[in-house]
Amino acid sequence: MSNRSILDEIGADVVLFNGKVVTVDEDDSIFEAVAIKDGRILKAGSNEEVQSLASSRARQIDLKGRTVLPGFIDSHEHCIRRGLQADYVDCRSPPVMTINDIVEALKAKAGEKKEGEWVVGSWFDETKLGDRRWPNRYDLDKASSKHPIYLGRAGGHNAVANSLALSIAGISKDTPQPSGGRIEKDEQGEPTGRLDEIAAMNMVRGKIPSPGPEESTEIMVEKWPEVEEMLLSWGITTMHEAHIKAPASLAYQELLKKGGLRMRVGLMLDGMTPYGGYATDDLARQGIRTGFGWGDKLYVVGVKIGVDGAMGSLTAALTEPYSNDPENYGIVRVTQEDLTEETVRCHKAHLRTCIHAIGDRAIDIALNSVEEAVKSMEWKDHRHRIEHAGYVRPDQLDRMKRLGVAVSASIGFCHPIGDSHYDALGTDRLRGYYPMRSFKEHGIVAGGNSDGFGRNWALTGIYGCATRRSSGGRYLAKEEAISVMDSIRAYTINAAFLEGTEDEKGSIEPGKMADFVVLDRDILTVDPEEILQTKVLMTMVGGEVVYEAD
Ligand SMILES: [Zn+2]
Repeated sequence: MSNRSILDEIGADVVLFNGKVVTVDEDDSIFEAVAIKDGRILKAGSNEEVQSLASSRARQIDLKGRTVLPGFIDSHEHCIRRGLQADYVDCRSPPVMTINDIVEALKAKAGEKKEGEWVVGSWFDETKLGDRRWPNRYDLDKASSKHPIYLGRAGGHNAVANSLALSIAGISKDTPQPSGGRIEKDEQGEPTGRLDEIAAMNMVRGKIPSPGPEESTEIMVEKWPEVEEMLLSWGITTMHEAHIKAPASLAYQELLKKGGLRMRVGLMLDGMTPYGGYATDDLARQGIRTGFGWGDKLYVVGVKIGVDGAMGSLTAALTEPYSNDPENYGIVRVTQEDLTEETVRCHKAHLRTCIHAIGDRAIDIALNSVEEAVKSMEWKDHRHRIEHAGYVRPDQLDRMKRLGVAVSASIGFCHPIGDSHYDALGTDRLRGYYPMRSFKEHGIVAGGNSDGFGRNWALTGIYGCATRRSSGGRYLAKEEAISVMDSIRAYTINAAFLEGTEDEKGSIEPGKMADFVVLDRDILTVDPEEILQTKVLMTMVGGEVVYEAD
């Protein structure tokens, strides 16, 4: 057998050459080319080195000088349920800029429906509206008094209902406050329509007819290609689905089975505190642990549990009150006892917890529970996660490091909604806002996420890491900015660490999965302001091209 025919047997089946291959390895190595065999990386090196490994049938991709990075790993999003929201009125700003815009959009949707049918809006953000106030029931009544209306706020922790929806839900002056939630009432005690936290929101949301579990699964399977195409066009090759229940999990399994899953998805299972989920006890009994999966495209990252609300809606739990609401310390949705019990239960079952904690008071509660878990049984490499970590005090950094906690930081918020966070925290606390530099300096591994906010999540998050600049042009503690290379790490190798796959992906090194993104410019050398305009030209998962820009 000649060398050539041996190479045809065992050589690379895809070659990317003539580019700038940013490996994100420990030495920040950069090469011209990379060879792939059976979905894995054979070698990154010079054009010559790599071409010498190619079989004669290898697909040759000329990068024409473009930059290649490891595929982005976004460590906290809620994607598959978007399929169920196709009928929702999108009230995102921009383009929606006033309460009147919201009313008009809801009115138009009501016009398409029979009287009595629900109208659901989503994604409004009062901090972006010209009115600078929350819409209330009376605003929504102007959209329709004959259709019940439920309007969800961005972030998923608050909503507003119109008068008909409140009355269907039986919410009146006399309704007691649900535990862990709040029905806002005016000075006369009348509900204003605003509902804070799931406990209050569900009183109304529970009345909206929704497809049963089987139909939900079908709809999510059907709509997934659109959602996935969006993610792939943003260069995201792995995404952590931050909370699933049976219909979503079944939809993913169905997609996997029929070859309809092009990207990789890590699942956070439905924890018991405070979500009332059912996962943990059973999983523990059945020995299902973190990492359990259906191959390298669908697997369990951990169990989602949580402590507080969100910063933009002033429900994240702080030890000092909000700068723009001096009586308000935010909301805690769990007792320390319950959270600790759940965390210990997960820990003993070798299930990583992914604990939603945004404010520093919530982070204290989360760390207290991890502290107890760590004491309860030795599991050195648990990597229990804090999800978000929106305001971290300096003393908490040391404690995170000591406990071996990793962070899925929502630094992707910085650009799209950083202004509302700036106002919420005030200037004195900005240093602790998703403190990426401090995480790095303390040896805490932090990945990035956008939790659904904004667009082009990974690149917007990388921009946030590197510039700390909001869309309003304010800086949220420039001192906490990190280099562009480290910003890329937050969306590649660090995020791989958060799911325990740093030996399998997150950098371009031999043996790792061939997940790549090709960009239209070199974000390591352009003005960081340009990162926001950067476009993805091509995305590869396991050596296959899954997205190409037109
Ligand atoms: Zn989330």
